[in-house]
This record gives sequence, C-alpha cells and structure tokens, in this order.
Amino acid sequence: MKKQFIVIGLGRFGSSLVRTLVHSGHEVMAVDKNEQPVQDIADVATHALQADCTDESVLKELGARNFSHAIVAIGDDLQASILTTMLLKELQIPRVTAKAKNEMHGHVLSKVGADHIVYPERDMAARLGKQLSSNNLIDYIELSPTYNLVEIKVPPAMNAKSLKQLNIRAKYGCNIMAIKVGDYMNISPKAEDLIYTGNILIMIGSNEDINHLENDYEQ
Ligand code: ATP
Repeated sequence: MKKQFIVIGLGRFGSSLVRTLVHSGHEVMAVDKNEQPVQDIADVATHALQADCTDESVLKELGARNFSHAIVAIGDDLQASILTTMLLKELQIPRVTAKAKNEMHGHVLSKVGADHIVYPERDMAARLGKQLSSNNLIDYIELSPTYNLVEIKVPPAMNAKSLKQLNIRAKYGCNIMAIKVGDYMNISPKAEDLIYTGNILIMIGSNEDINHLENDYEQ
C-alpha cells in the first residue's frame, strides 16, 4: 500500500531513507533547512522543500499534519531535533520516528512524544561487531531483546548431515525455518533433508542458544 512520509533532515541517513522509501513505491516529502541537500534529492523525492522545521507555522504550511508518518533525521542540532519532534506530535501526526545520537538524546525524544527512536550508528556498529566476531553469522534480525532470527553459513562440521542427525532443536533449542541453497529456498525443511557447506540456515533462537550452537561449531 502506498504511504505518505515526510522526512526532515537530509543528511546521509535522511537522504538514504528518502531514496529507499521512494524506490519502495511511497510518496515522500523531503525537507531540509539548507538548499544543497534539497537540490540533491529533488529528482528523487515526490516533493523536496527548503524549510526550517523548528517553526510551527512552517510545519503547518508544509501540510505536515496530513502525513501519517514523519521521520526526524536531524542529528547534530539536538535542539532542532527535539523541537521538531515535539511540534510534529503537537500537530497530531500518528507516527513520528526520530533519529538519536545517543541514549540521552533518545530519552528526551521519547519524552516529547516520539513513537519510535532509531540509533543508526549504535545499531550498525552492534550489527557489524556481531558479524565480525562470528565466523558463520551473515545477518540477523532482533525479534525481541532475547530472540533473534539469524542467517548462518553451514559450518564444515554440519556438512552432508540431515537435520535429524544434527538434532539442533533438541540439543540447542533453535528452530531451523529454512535452508538457502543458492537462489533456492527450502522453506520448512524436513528432518531427513541434508545440508551442505555453502548452504545458509535461517534459524530462530534465543541469544543464549544461538551462541551455544555457534561456539560448538566454531571453525
Ligand atoms: P547524517 O549522519 O545523517 O549525515 P547528522 O546526524 O550528522 O546526519 P546533521 O547533518 O546534523 O545530522 O543533520 C541532518 C540534516 O538536518 C542537515 O542537512 C541539516 O541541514 C538538517 N537540519 C538541521 N536542522 C534543521 C531544521 N531545523 N529544519 C530542517 N532541517 C534541519
């Protein structure tokens, strides 16, 4: 379904977000107080405007209240980020996502009403750290603070074994949801299906159980 977003602050994060949303088929109004970032995104965004969003009357003129989702991607200017977030919530935009530099900033943003806070630098570093510290982890999605969906390379010790032989659910409490073999996806694999190095396992488990499995199969 096509959605309407307003993205405020067109630094590296905001402008990448505008591109992704537009490429995903949504309508995006992109706003920055400086001219250059607005010009740079003008060909991509549905509308691109130069405006200082700490001014309530400016936000009203932009028709900000007609958007169902606003993203505040202002980083360095904490005052502007907080004030803009507060004004957007006062205009009763149902969902406001705000980018925070650190925990303190995030805390203030939620106090002024942000519905969702993102910490791109912290989260990207955590993701990279996890990938670098594991030999097999390709990617993961945090389902909750304790449960992850992970993509892991089949370690050599699992090569040419069936899921039944490996007995991963009973031994580690992790569930293998799918096996990726090149471009082919074996969804809901059966106990007798064999796995090989080069395949990728898509698995759900608690952090503890996934770490346990990874340590046992560390190359
Ligand atoms: P990134 O890491 O995404 O590059 P950043 O965290 O360094 O960005 P800034 O560069 O400080 O964040 O801010 C992002 C953009 O927000 C800048 O282009 C800046 O001009 C814009 N901005 C700052 N204040 C306002 C404001 N009051 N209204 C609209 N845009 C603003």
